[in-house]
Amino acid sequence: MQDTWTTHLAEQALDQRHRGLWRQRRILDPDRALIDFAGNDYLGLARDTRLAEAQAEGARRFGAGARASHLVSGHLEVHEALEAGLADLTGRPRALLFSTGYMANLGTLQALCDDRTAVFQDRLNHASLLDGAALAKARSRRFHHRDLGDLERLLRRSPPEARKLVVSDGVFSMDGDLADVPGLAQTCATHGAWLMIDDAHGLGVLGALGDGSVGRVHGMDRVPVLVGTLGKALGSAGAFVAGSQALIEHLIQFARPYIYTTAQPPGVAAATLKALELLDTEPERRRRLDDLIARFRREAATLGLPLADSPTPIQPLVLGDSARMMHWAGRLRERGLLVGAIREPTVPRGQARLRITLSAAHDDDDLDTLLQALADLQREDACHGEAVTP
Ligand SMILES: *Cc1c(COP(=O)(O)O)cnc(C)c1O
Repeated sequence: MQDTWTTHLAEQALDQRHRGLWRQRRILDPDRALIDFAGNDYLGLARDTRLAEAQAEGARRFGAGARASHLVSGHLEVHEALEAGLADLTGRPRALLFSTGYMANLGTLQALCDDRTAVFQDRLNHASLLDGAALAKARSRRFHHRDLGDLERLLRRSPPEARKLVVSDGVFSMDGDLADVPGLAQTCATHGAWLMIDDAHGLGVLGALGDGSVGRVHGMDRVPVLVGTLGKALGSAGAFVAGSQALIEHLIQFARPYIYTTAQPPGVAAATLKALELLDTEPERRRRLDDLIARFRREAATLGLPLADSPTPIQPLVLGDSARMMHWAGRLRERGLLVGAIREPTVPRGQARLRITLSAAHDDDDLDTLLQALADLQREDACHGEAVTP
């Protein structure tokens, strides 16, 4: 006889399959010649051997693991140096290192909010931001994507005595478009709210110094709570929160996902320090990326592909129907091209998309191959459309 748990799991699996939403992992063989247009390694640092060397050296010097949480005995010199480097990059007095971006968002929202806090989130914010507010038992009101008028309306309706926190991605991870940081900051100022920006996809890519969509241009008076992640453009792993002395001390005291976890492996922190150095000494990586983005957009527009309005390395092609999108992703894979195949619930239903990401590591031939394959798929679709239309 099946127990209730086994039955429950089988039912859930069947439902997920029936809805066409079954998710699968694939083992990516680093030596097989797939061209990766799916990752977030925007500057091509993840496989730079200098990061690997720094990581190995960090591990030799400090150990493979940190051995304890930051507050017990796991906070090492290399973590402290990295925090100083991140504070400097973002123009804030202090930064606090977390093991992942997911945990940074959980910890920050949990430590700042409680059931009396009014949290306002862009509808397309990353899942970890919603989960963080839920962990704090704070209610998230969601405003229409990039719609300051809608945010204003929600703020006006919230109780004047409530502490208010407005939360947005800096660069939206599935759309590649940017938050209007000055506009959000202005609205926050009017209502006495704080602004928290998660710049996971902006850091390293945008800004004169690779300091991101917030960085040094928008100081703490506008964006008191800044989150950045280190597993994307910086090519390693982890995340940080940057802000005032008081904010960082508050997180050290109260952020449970900071307190109750082992500190990041020191080699990883050493690799990130090397990435910060390369951000500074090799600005040509950002220029190369900008050139690739411009070229992709120009040629995709000529082909009539459904480009989104994105100035960043995230260049989604919204195909709408998830079966059509999966077909395109499969055909691209057959041709040695890896792209993100994104559907609900990650994006709203009917907005399934290929999430194509560009990297300074791509060469011109890589982009040619991609554009050619997309042109062929576009033509096949058009022929197919003609065949069924009377
Ligand atoms: C990737 C991402 C995160 C999570 O960061 P990890 O370090 O991968 O856990 C958080 N926020 C946004 C917007 C992201 O894209």
